[in-house]
Amino acid sequence: MGAPTRIGLAGLGVMGENFALNIAEKGFPISVYNITTPRIDETVERAKREGNLPVYGFSDPEAFVRSIQRPRFIILLIKAGSPVDQTIKTLSVFMDKGDCIIDGGNEWYENTERREREMAELGISYLGMGVSGGEEGARCGPSLMPGGSAEAYKNVEDILLKVAAQVPESGPCVTYIGEGGSGNFVKMVHNGIEYGDMQLIAEAYDVLKSVGKLSNEELQEVFLEWNKGELLSFLIEITGEIFGIKDDKGNGFLVDKVLDKTGMKGTGKWTVQQAADLSIAAPTIASSLDSRFLSGLKEERVEAARIFNSIEIGDVLEKQTVDKKRLVEDVRKALYASKICSYAQGMNLIRAKSIEKGWNLKLGEIARIWKGGCIIRAVFLDRIKKAYDRSPDLASLLVDPEFAKEVIDRQSAWRRVVCLAINAGISAPGMTSSLAYFDTYRRESLPANLVQAQRDYFGAHTYERIDMPGSFHTEWFKIAKQPRR
Ligand code: NDP
Repeated sequence: MGAPTRIGLAGLGVMGENFALNIAEKGFPISVYNITTPRIDETVERAKREGNLPVYGFSDPEAFVRSIQRPRFIILLIKAGSPVDQTIKTLSVFMDKGDCIIDGGNEWYENTERREREMAELGISYLGMGVSGGEEGARCGPSLMPGGSAEAYKNVEDILLKVAAQVPESGPCVTYIGEGGSGNFVKMVHNGIEYGDMQLIAEAYDVLKSVGKLSNEELQEVFLEWNKGELLSFLIEITGEIFGIKDDKGNGFLVDKVLDKTGMKGTGKWTVQQAADLSIAAPTIASSLDSRFLSGLKEERVEAARIFNSIEIGDVLEKQTVDKKRLVEDVRKALYASKICSYAQGMNLIRAKSIEKGWNLKLGEIARIWKGGCIIRAVFLDRIKKAYDRSPDLASLLVDPEFAKEVIDRQSAWRRVVCLAINAGISAPGMTSSLAYFDTYRRESLPANLVQAQRDYFGAHTYERIDMPGSFHTEWFKIAKQPRR
């Protein structure tokens, strides 16, 4: 290696290896480092195979750091948590004032803020950059959500603009998100929304399969058709493809052989915890998390199915005469309407955090950079961007005139699907809770008056009145227990 490289990357797992090759392919010579050597050799070999890409491997951390031109930018794609702290410790001793560390992992935003403070003491700037798109995204163009030092972002922007996914007419899927851990926070909510999308799609599948009795071939056709319209998205596309894959170890389709247990790594849980901390209702996302928890109880479910496999529910399913074409249409509409609710929840969560932290996050711009590269990429996001462009202070996506009209147009189908699922004993928590969210949000009056009265009754928590200002307390107990005349 002659001249210093333009950038460095540490952590050559699935994401790191692919992202390093992407950066090199876009014309930026890159130094790479990993805690174990075989991964370095593999990455360098692959870079050679894929067109002699300028990737230079180092197993010595000092040589790695010194090989990069100053001010240095070093991207970390390492298992989040203490491995990142360890790696920062290893590398930062060789770094100089003005250099920058960019953590691309799914990190808890407060860890990023702590590290930003620690690095500031050494004169090293810090970015926490959400990266979405999995293996393929990392290699060909992910969605990037960098937050932290605005000045550091400016200095590395030329690289990020080129390596991010490129969407015609709306540009590269990267923007400076905001200060502190905002990039990690936005990526966390992206993942929460991803949980919601996947759950809603799974429920659509369940209703179509269990009630509509659609075969895998029919399901594939339906999803491929859906992918031509308003639901066009990466997740709908891959779902259609999954239904077409035959089992390579036996007969039938592979999807039917996959154990019904969903794994998770924590970002969905953090999203729900943050929503609760900020008093933001996020029932669609929460129900997708609960569904993953329940899916994990496979043995208990097998036993419960034995106990509750009641004839009545079986009868409902058997007796149901279903108009397949109409069911497919209804489910499509229910899925779309539920998706609007889910994104409304995610966006409101981002806004609430932005207000709490003073991040000044731009919701329309965030929707724009999710249009390509990432797992939730969809044409739908363009509509969300436009909604926030029309009205940056929109209280909820649900009340944007275009989305409101779409929900109104779909609500009968949505209600039909939810009723059908409930009557058939098919759980559809994402669609059901989305509908409940919509029905709660759109009602001027809720039974919350009674809950507040109960609170005042037993806890003297006071209440407000609808007809006069102020705070009131009533001795409900004394009045209620007075002898009746
Ligand atoms: P992998 O498990 O494939 O790779 C993890 C990397 O971290 C390896 O290079 C590993 O080195 C290194 N590592 C682990 N422990 C340590 C340690 N103590 N010190 C130094 N290095 C260590 O993970 P991914 O590439 O999938 O993910 C990397 C980050 O990107 C994670 O934060 C992940 O959440 C995030 N991410 C992942 C996505 C995906 O689709 N996979 C998508 C978006 C973000 P070695 O194996 O040699 O020990």
